[in-house]
Amino acid sequence: MKNKIKKEERKRILLNVIKKKKYLNKTQLINFTKLRSGTVLDLIEELKKEGFLKIKNEKSGKVGRPGELLEINPKNKLALGVTITKNFIFLVVIDLSGKIIFKNKIENILKEGKEKTISKVILSLQKTFSLYPKEKFLGIGLSLPGLIDTKRGIALFSTYADWWKDIPFKRILKKEFSLPVEIENDTRCSSIFEQLEGEAKNKRNFIYIEINEGVGSSIILDKKIYRGTKERAGEFGHMTIDPNGPLCKCGNYGCLESLISLENIYQKIKKTVDSGIHTKIIDLTNGNLDKTTPEILIKAAEKGDKVALNIIENIGINLGIGISNLINLLNPQTIILSGEFTSAKDLLLQPIVNTVKKRALEDLWKKTEIKFSRKYHHYSSAKGAALLILQKFFQEQ
Ligand SMILES: [Zn+2]
Repeated sequence: MKNKIKKEERKRILLNVIKKKKYLNKTQLINFTKLRSGTVLDLIEELKKEGFLKIKNEKSGKVGRPGELLEINPKNKLALGVTITKNFIFLVVIDLSGKIIFKNKIENILKEGKEKTISKVILSLQKTFSLYPKEKFLGIGLSLPGLIDTKRGIALFSTYADWWKDIPFKRILKKEFSLPVEIENDTRCSSIFEQLEGEAKNKRNFIYIEINEGVGSSIILDKKIYRGTKERAGEFGHMTIDPNGPLCKCGNYGCLESLISLENIYQKIKKTVDSGIHTKIIDLTNGNLDKTTPEILIKAAEKGDKVALNIIENIGINLGIGISNLINLLNPQTIILSGEFTSAKDLLLQPIVNTVKKRALEDLWKKTEIKFSRKYHHYSSAKGAALLILQKFFQEQ
């Protein structure tokens, strides 16, 4: 038994090296893994039989054959990633190279209750397994809102729905599908996506910030997610920015989230309108300011609306103050911003950067790049959950 585990571990080491280098010949593999040559040759044969390795087509006409070049056969195994949002379930299937080979979006209104949501997740997975054989899957990664106990696989709490409390997703899905299941917070899943394929590729230390209804963050230190004692690290939205600011849902005054929340934004717009100033937001919401969304605000700002521009600038300044604190505290290489305001990046980035330059220590901000995620989408979080399965398989963490 012990030997079998050792052997499996060595196979992963081998696959991991090939994955990193893309393709290698046998001699290079022996050198890189520092395993005995006989062991490496045996393992290569086994991995070929199992379908994990294939021989890379060599270009013809080369003088002196360098030996078979081995590469991973990406289609040999698959991983599934699912993310549950307020109104939809997003699902992706990726191969061993991380390429999405299937994606699906299912309407799911969380208000309809716990049973309905769980049965929809199960149904969407069953449908996927009718398209791709279940045996091909290394596991299911689940990206969920709110507080997660990743070790026990329980979704502890989310503000998305009243019923969202202590749901043992890992146990439910394992029982239903007999596959390994990993669950992770959605913001952290998106940060895994950024780390492996996005704006934070090859970065050791970075902070991923997502601005939606709430403001969440994922802190990656030395390539690993920093979780904190109760997996609560990263509550960036509840950093105090203005001690005299508005009351936050958490009970504190002047949290970042309270300052840049849509609710606070409506209040500001209403005050401005009441003082007799016109804004295009009135036309875009057909006179109902409660209907203001980030898109409407951005649209108005892009049309040069002064009220909208001012609000976005303010959001940037408040974010900049928070980011300055993060830079001073953690000295990250990169800060990635994402979420519903991603399309306003041209308007937001300048006030953020200006504030950071004013407030953070010069040595530190000069070494930090602040950028927006290329394109924010819930599929990124689902893909991050699927990548989590690959990461576990290749033992990258
Ligand atoms: Zn708060």
